[in-house]
Amino acid sequence: MAKAFDVIVIGGGPAGYVAAIRCSQLGMTTAVVDDFVYKDGEPALGGTCLNVGCIPSKALLDSSEQYHKVNHELEAHGIKTGKVQLDVGAMIARKDRVVKDLTGGIAQLFKANKIEWLKGHGKLLSGKQVEVTPADGSGKAEVYQAEHVIIATGSKPIDIDAAPLDGERIVNSDGALEFTDVPKRLGIIGAGVIGLEMGSVWSRLGSKVTLLEAQDTFLPPVDQRVAKMAQKEFERQGLDIRFGARVTNAKVGKTVSVHYEDKDGKQNIQVDKLIVCVGRRPNTGNLFAEDVDLLLDERGLVNVDEHCRTNLPGVYAIGDVVRGPMLAHKGSEEGVMVAELIAGRPGHVNYDTIPWVIYTHPEIAWAGKTEQQLKAAGVPFNSGTFNFGATGRARAMEEKAGMVKIIAHKETDRILGVHIVGPQASELIAEAVVAMEFHASSEDLARIIHAHPTLSEAMHEAALSVSKRAIHKAN
Ligand code: FAD
Ligand code: NAD
Repeated sequence: MAKAFDVIVIGGGPAGYVAAIRCSQLGMTTAVVDDFVYKDGEPALGGTCLNVGCIPSKALLDSSEQYHKVNHELEAHGIKTGKVQLDVGAMIARKDRVVKDLTGGIAQLFKANKIEWLKGHGKLLSGKQVEVTPADGSGKAEVYQAEHVIIATGSKPIDIDAAPLDGERIVNSDGALEFTDVPKRLGIIGAGVIGLEMGSVWSRLGSKVTLLEAQDTFLPPVDQRVAKMAQKEFERQGLDIRFGARVTNAKVGKTVSVHYEDKDGKQNIQVDKLIVCVGRRPNTGNLFAEDVDLLLDERGLVNVDEHCRTNLPGVYAIGDVVRGPMLAHKGSEEGVMVAELIAGRPGHVNYDTIPWVIYTHPEIAWAGKTEQQLKAAGVPFNSGTFNFGATGRARAMEEKAGMVKIIAHKETDRILGVHIVGPQASELIAEAVVAMEFHASSEDLARIIHAHPTLSEAMHEAALSVSKRAIHKAN
């Protein structure tokens, strides 16, 4: 008879592993099936996020920022350095250590929570059975029985025919984390989140970076005033962003010859490496048997309701494989919600307050609605802005670029959106999320004491600015 669990989670990324831990905390016997194999050949938990996504990219962003600071920013503080040397191998090795420590930590948490880690590819069979095929092809497939199944299989990069990956010169985001030296000229297809983050890493380390973006608008999901300020900063840093660029062909020789068309006709650039990062698609390959009638939506995502229930009773889906932003924390919260629901408790995710962060320098972070979304929906609003350059702390840090923008409903003053470009925007956005969760008005934020001198004073002043009473600017 098949071994049985209360819950089997397919996928051990931030959606799946968090769901599993919460299920175990709630007293359910739990197993996680995961097929990820790290580059050292070892199976690893943590999914895209820990192995080839959030964590390694942030490790390299941090290392490259240190290098850039030493070379370009310390002098302003009166610190002179000698010749600074870069060891890309050591930088990548540090990134790998950070990844291994964290993925090993998840394995420890599984042991502590008595979660069984089934290493291999999971396939949903009828009757909530899950077949697990060992990832390395060794041994035979085993079938397990579940009371509840949570699908958390995540996503993978989209490939484009015009620039097929060769794993050496043309790579996706996985490959962009593994360069062994700094490419002199780096091309990037797609000026989205990954393009900007990886472009920042390699540009800070010395690459001349050209981004080819198909759309005419920079970061359409971002409030456009914030996006324009960020674009100016990135271009000042040397990122060459070309809009309306349709890549027709990329040929690999000694270099990569990238052909594209824009409003001025046919264009060509020569680069040493090319990163393709044009979005991600859900992982649903070989996920369910033919006789399992799991409903997918028109984009190939597993179809779910607001509680992440699929069309099959007892089968849930969470994270990148379902609708909503492809963000680790969104998947994790869905995991907690589903675990709570299975245990018969109330569970919910507030999709209106999910924070977004782009870890460039300056960082971009936002929660809630943008001005363009509110205008399109005909919602009346007031907005207030405040530049970091007018705060004492940002000046003391030599971090003058950026601003906070707060948008509040014109009649109720309820905060509808907060948009930040500037230093530590990733941390500052938490205050906005708390405020919005508690249905705060801009007046509430304006009346809260913020420590001086801190970057959070820009948030305070932006809230004051909604009603034209910021102290350190002419309103
Ligand atoms: P995943 O993390 O993709 O995990 C799914 C797991 O399931 C994988 O291990 C996969 O191998 C496994 N799997 C798939 N199919 C099967 C199967 N049939 N059987 C068994 N196992 C299977 N998000 C942020 O919030 N912040 C960031 O800073 C950030 N940075 C990123 C940087 C990069 C370069 C990339 C690529 C992504 C980044 N993301 C970031 C996005 C984030 O990684 C994803 O949103 C997140 O990992 C999704 O979590 P998940 O658990 O749904 O899926
Ligand atoms: P993205 O959607 O952020 O950006 C892709 C960009 O490529 C878009 O601007 C799009 O217009 C452009 N594009 C699409 N097809 C193109 C083509 N043929 N030629 C030129 N440009 C083209 O996607 P991404 O950067 O690949 O990242 C995928 C997802 O991973 C993100 O949307 C996000 O959900 C997640 N992620 C999050 C973070 C973070 O939270 N900091 C970091 C990295 C990735």
